[in-house]
Amino acid sequence: MSIIITGATGQLGSRVIGQLLKQEVPAEHIVALVRHPEKAAHLAELGLELRYGDYNDRFSLQSAFAGADKLLFIPSPDAHDETLRLLQHTHVAIAARDAGVPHIVYYGYAFAEESKLPLAATHLLTEGILRSTGIPYTFLRNPLYADVFLDPQSLQAAAQYGTLKANTGEGAIHSPSRYDLARAGAAVLTGEGHENKTYELVLGRTWTFRELADAIASVAGKPVGYEPITSEENQALLVQAGLPKEVAGMLSGINDFIASGGSSRTGKDLEHLIGEPTPLQELVREGLAMKTS
Ligand code: NAP
Repeated sequence: MSIIITGATGQLGSRVIGQLLKQEVPAEHIVALVRHPEKAAHLAELGLELRYGDYNDRFSLQSAFAGADKLLFIPSPDAHDETLRLLQHTHVAIAARDAGVPHIVYYGYAFAEESKLPLAATHLLTEGILRSTGIPYTFLRNPLYADVFLDPQSLQAAAQYGTLKANTGEGAIHSPSRYDLARAGAAVLTGEGHENKTYELVLGRTWTFRELADAIASVAGKPVGYEPITSEENQALLVQAGLPKEVAGMLSGINDFIASGGSSRTGKDLEHLIGEPTPLQELVREGLAMKTS
């Protein structure tokens, strides 16, 4: 058995690897696709094989995918250029086809057909390209990671000042943590009967920023209130906190998306794969306990 993981040095890929090892998949059955082996020395020490591969070079990918029983394809992070991302994803698909990979597991985007986020179109097109190879697939459709909203510094500031400010309105959020999404990936890679299935990895019950403020208050043991603000006010706050203007604009845009109801649809696929997702209060506890400077 050989499972190849792309994006192995990244935050999602490394969590999937951690879960596979926890489930006692032998390290020598896991291959990490990396661009810079020196960034993956910790994986080699655990006994994983490292293979070089770059999404921009399909022949490097084809060599790396040789002999794989399963390929976990984590999408490229080049989100500033969706066209380049599609080209990179096409390289992965052609390389997998030409290397004879028998099963490809791809992390796409939740409810991609109906999402207004531009990145959803890239994920939908990638699914189409992967289907065109004829390789049996499993599409794991992630929503925005809960981690995007649970930045430890913001949680700690909210606990310190007693206010959580954001332009998320009363929008419902169906996002689980990156950790739970990794658990779902590991469940599919080690399970049976997932070929040609599409899973929407959203929570069965949404949460809001008002509930997030309550969770911070409960963990910190002091009052914390939620104060909805405008997109412009949010951007100004983030710039004041030291974020570059474009990043502040991007994050405020995500919050607008939440406020407009874009992340409210729930589902049961995640629970079927991993059981109970990590409760919001637990994620807040981890964020508040994390060292940030
Ligand atoms: P991450 O920590 O940035 O990891 C990205 C991984 O992709 C790294 O291992 C990186 O390797 C690898 N990579 C980058 N360019 C590559 C290339 N040209 N060829 C081969 N590998 C390359 O991202 P993450 O948090 O694990 O998230 C995984 C993916 O989910 C992202 O790539 C992005 O598409 C998407 N995403 C989703 C959300 C969400 O909220 N749903 C948020 C952020 C990102 P190096 O170590 O060599 O750089």
